[in-house]
Amino acid sequence: MRLIVNFLVVLSAISSNVYAEKLKVVASFSVLGDFARQVGGDTVDVDIIVPENSDPHVYQPTPDDVKKVAKADIILINGLGFEGWFERLLNNSGGKAKVVTVTSKVKPRTILDSKQGTSVYDPHAWHSVTNAILYVDEVEKAFSSLRPTSKKIFKKNATLYRVELTKLHDWIVDKYKSLKIPHHMVVTTHDAFWYYGETYGITFLSPVGISTEAEPSAAAVAQLIETVREKDIRAVFIENLSNRKLIEQIAQETKTMVDGTLYADSLSDPKQPDSPAKTYIEMIRHNTNEIVKGLQS
Ligand code: ZN
Repeated sequence: MRLIVNFLVVLSAISSNVYAEKLKVVASFSVLGDFARQVGGDTVDVDIIVPENSDPHVYQPTPDDVKKVAKADIILINGLGFEGWFERLLNNSGGKAKVVTVTSKVKPRTILDSKQGTSVYDPHAWHSVTNAILYVDEVEKAFSSLRPTSKKIFKKNATLYRVELTKLHDWIVDKYKSLKIPHHMVVTTHDAFWYYGETYGITFLSPVGISTEAEPSAAAVAQLIETVREKDIRAVFIENLSNRKLIEQIAQETKTMVDGTLYADSLSDPKQPDSPAKTYIEMIRHNTNEIVKGLQS
C-alpha cells in the first residue's frame, strides 16, 4: 500500500512539473517576444503578433493573429500608444487572456504632437537598457502570478538575464565615454531613439516624428538639412523598417554618407544568415557599434 502511495505522489509531482502545459504567451512585437523567451525558457510557448522586420506602428492584424490571441494565456504589450491596433484585435478574439503592459514602471517621455496639438507618449522605451530591465521585471512578475509552480524558474532566468542587461548597459556607457569627438549628434529616420539618447548622452535628430505614420513636412526636412550642415553631423542612419529615400536625400544634400542601418521597432529576421539583431541584446549592441562608427567618421 505504502509503495502505491509513494508511486502516486511521484506521479503527481511529475505531472505538475515536467508535463505541465506550457504557458501560451503572445507578445505584441519581436522585442517583447525575446524578453518572454528569456524569462520563460522551456516553460513557455511564445508567439509574436508583428513579425520581425514589420512595422508595429502601422501593422494590420490578420485572421491568424485573432486565433493566436484567442488561445493565449497571457499577452504582453508595450503600451504608451505603440500598438494602436491591439484593442480591436483583443475584442475580435474574444479571448480571456491576461493582458500585461510591460512599461508600467517606466517613466514615460511625453512629447507634443504638432498635428494634434496635444501631448503624447513616446513608446520606444525599450531602447534604454535600464528600461529593458524594468520590462523584464514585469514579465517575471506576470508569469509568476499566472504560473506560481514555475516561479523559481522564472526568477532564475530573469536574474541571469538582468545580469546580462546590466553588463550591456555598462558596455555602452564605456563605449561613449572613450570617444573623443566634439559632439554626439546622430540623424535617423524617425524619433525612436530618444530614451537611448537620454540614457547614453546622444542627441538624435529625425525628419519623421515618433510614429512612422507621419509624413515629414518639406519645412521640417529643410530645417534638418540646415542643422546637419551647421553642426557638421556625420552620423546618418537609415532604419530597418523605414523608407531609405528621405535619409539618402538628406545625406546627399549635406554631402555626408549613410553610415548603416539601425534597428528601431523590430528585431531582424532570425532565419536570414548573418542577421545582426536576432535578440534584444544583439540589437542594442549592433546599434551602438554602428552609432560609434558613425560618430567617428
Ligand atoms: Zn517607432
